[in-house]
Amino acid sequence: MAQKPPMTPRPDTIAAIATAPGRGGIGVIRLSGADLLPLAQALCGKRPVPRQATLADFRAADGSAIDTGLLLHFPSPGSFTGEDVLELQGHGGPVVLQMLLARCLDLGARLAEPGEFTRRAYLNGKLDLAQAEAVVDLIDASTAAAARSAVLSLHGDFSKEIHALLEQLTELRALVEATLDFPEEDVDFLEAADAFGRLERLQQRLTTVFDRAQQGSLLQGGLNVVLIGLPNVGKSSLLNRLAGDDLSIVTSVAGTTRDVVRGRLQIEGIPLHVIDTAGLRATDDEIEKIGIARTWREIERADVVVLLVDARHGVSAEEHDILAQLPAKLARITVYNKIDLAGRPAERHAEATGAAISLSAKHGEGLDLLRQELLRVAGWHPAEDVFIARERHLRALSFTREHIAAAQAQLPQLELFAEELRLAQLALSSITGEFSSDDLLGEIFGRFCIGK
Ligand code: GDP
Repeated sequence: MAQKPPMTPRPDTIAAIATAPGRGGIGVIRLSGADLLPLAQALCGKRPVPRQATLADFRAADGSAIDTGLLLHFPSPGSFTGEDVLELQGHGGPVVLQMLLARCLDLGARLAEPGEFTRRAYLNGKLDLAQAEAVVDLIDASTAAAARSAVLSLHGDFSKEIHALLEQLTELRALVEATLDFPEEDVDFLEAADAFGRLERLQQRLTTVFDRAQQGSLLQGGLNVVLIGLPNVGKSSLLNRLAGDDLSIVTSVAGTTRDVVRGRLQIEGIPLHVIDTAGLRATDDEIEKIGIARTWREIERADVVVLLVDARHGVSAEEHDILAQLPAKLARITVYNKIDLAGRPAERHAEATGAAISLSAKHGEGLDLLRQELLRVAGWHPAEDVFIARERHLRALSFTREHIAAAQAQLPQLELFAEELRLAQLALSSITGEFSSDDLLGEIFGRFCIGK
């Protein structure tokens, strides 16, 4: 399904340690290039059998052994990159792997840049851009749900959906261009071909795909939650409760005298980045001011602010002022904590500033109400087969929808109608990378780790 952009004539040979840094049972060096048999011969003194593990000594220039391991050869084009690929599976010590890598460089390879293997796979038509991005998303997945949807995208499910949409759009464009080329045809001709009905159905399908992609982008990016509240209202208790038994994921990040505590947790597979901040009260204390400035910076990045108050005292005038200063569009949830002491039931109710949840962080009542509220704010509605997606994909899908809506608005001016359809196609095809600038490729693959 991936398109095949022109290949560079003879690619140079790239090499990198493909396994994670540190000590491990096995360490893998991966090489990709035009013809790697001479290099394998020089390194091991033997020719590897394609796709079979060959036991070999990896030797230094003077013939001494650097390591003993398995040599694997994936001849072009049946490899990850589409080029000749060698994998050297040695022992996973950082020093021995560095020595082996240095030897490969001596034999003519150069160090791979971040993401260069996957970039080559893309350039050689092995993966399209959305699939290449899914490789990183799978590696970076922080929840099982995110990993599952990354695999779907990697297998090309997302790309297939985009290609189906592109096909429909292309057919429509062909109809419209034909109308333009034959001036005796007009809007009636398009009507007879059900062009407008098709456009409407295309728009509906785009909306469904956008929704699935948006859910996927939540799985990938998660939700930034900022927790604010006076000392002792129960912020740490709430964070620990939300994190469940896994208290180790709530970590203290040393800052000034006031710490910002970050917790990474998940609700139904949605990663939640929770930041428990310094208070926001007015102060003359210089150090406290630094903490407060930092809290405001965190608020700028937040998707939702949770204000925690003691259920026995309610929201103070000072906290009302703080709520009033929050960006108007920022979602907020007020949590009335310590209902056990206040003798109140766990519940959700609506307030002028947003939803309010009464709970007990210490005993756990009402915690599920808060979890559900956070998911609601995030816009999460569990669906099957969520595609992992990024901001870039959502933007492209939005542009496509806008251009299709603009096309509909241009009728009966066929030239403008046709132009909007062309722009819609351009936006849509940028997802899988048919029309992608070098800048975009640099940005995408630059975020990979070396060796991937
Ligand atoms: P923070 O300063 O806002 O982080 O507050 P902490 O989480 O350290 O809690 C302050 C005190 O309130 C601790 O002694 C907690 O055990 C207690 N606390 C927190 N939540 C509750 C609750 O729901 N009920 C009761 N009874 N005590 C709570």
